[in-house]
Parts: sequence; structure tokens; C-alpha cells
Amino acid sequence: MSATVQGPQPLRELAPGLTLARGGPGRTLNVYLLGTVIVDSGVRSSRRRLARQLAGRRLTPHLLTHAHFDHAGSSAWLCRTFDVPLWCGAGDGRVDTHRSRLVNVVQRRLLPVAACQVGRVLREGDVVEGFEMLEVPGHSPGALAFWRERDRVLLCGDVLANAGLRPERVRLVLPPAALSSDAEDNRCAAWRLAELRPRLACFGHGLAVTDPGRFAAAVQRLGQPRHRR
Ligand SMILES: [Zn+2]
Repeated sequence: MSATVQGPQPLRELAPGLTLARGGPGRTLNVYLLGTVIVDSGVRSSRRRLARQLAGRRLTPHLLTHAHFDHAGSSAWLCRTFDVPLWCGAGDGRVDTHRSRLVNVVQRRLLPVAACQVGRVLREGDVVEGFEMLEVPGHSPGALAFWRERDRVLLCGDVLANAGLRPERVRLVLPPAALSSDAEDNRCAAWRLAELRPRLACFGHGLAVTDPGRFAAAVQRLGQPRHRR
């Protein structure tokens, strides 16, 4: 048997300049590449999978949709290994405050997130690799969604997840209130995202949704927010 040279694993391109990597099995922990910018890093043990998928790739800043243990778990490793800075939403810049109590407990005791210096704080309207930052607080205070209007591509982070196991079966769910800093604000954020009518909506957890009508209908089924921002 001949030896093979270990190069970067081919990753799945979802849209031009948007690639899917995996921080866990299937679509349980999605990690995205916007060009060479890597978005989220899965849990602490995702580093092994990510190392295989990212070997030999050049990366530029590492972005977080939000600073929770299942999105920032391998961020310190990623920043160190690829020598890239971490950028995240303003409200998540201090990773030790403002979270739901349950998230604090999980992150302190079960799945610790190693401290990582934030190189830049991102705000509404900032543009990275052609994607506009949308501040969507609720699941965490500094939660961000990423929106590219020209082809209507949206990264939702955990504002919503898709629990449907087949592409034709869309089942959007809101994150548990106990894991969110303000569940009602998060519901508002979900409605805001539905109004964008994305042609491709990607989530932190679950399969992407490629039908704007289905996406909006699935958000409406989750119930109207009591207030709108
Ligand atoms: Zn998550």
C-alpha cells in the first residue's frame, strides 16, 4: 500500500464562498467557512475533526455567531493553531458575564471554554467576506447572524435550529429558554430573519433550508413575539 500525502479534506460548498465544515457528526455542530474566515468552532472535542478538515488551509479571522460552549469550544485552539484573531459580537466580548445561568454552569463545569482574547468586536452593519453582520441578541447578548443580500444567503447561528432530518422536512426550533439570555428577544430575532426571505438559511445545528417561503412559515409556526424591536 502506498503512502498518501495528508492534504486538506474536501469540504462541501453550500454557496459561492460559503463552505460547510463539521464540528460533530452529521449536522449536529456546524462550522462554516466564509472564504478563509472560519465561523464557530464546535465543542472542545471538535478540534480533532476540525484539524483533519482544515489541515493545510490558510485561515484569516475566526468569527463567532455567539460565545457558547458548542460554538466557541475549540476557538482558543483554532486561534493558536492557525494564528488568527477572534472576532465576535459586542455583547459576547466578555465571555464570563451576561449568559443564562445554565450556560454558565455548563461552561464552568462540563464543557469549559478556554479563554481567548477578542481581537475585534463586530457590530450591526459591519461587513466580513461580503456578509453583513446583523446583531440578533437573545440567545446570547452578542449573538450575530450573517447576511449576504446579493444571493440571499443567511447564517442564523442559534437564533433558530433545524430539527428536520431530511431536506424536504423543515422543522425549525427556537433554542431552549434556559440556554438563552432573553428568549423573547431571540424570538424577535427569528422573525427579523424570516422577513429577509433567505434563499439559503444555514444554522448552527441542522440542515440548511433553501426555500424562503418554508423558512418564513416555519418561523411563524413558532409564534409571534410579544414585542418587536
Ligand atoms: Zn448551539
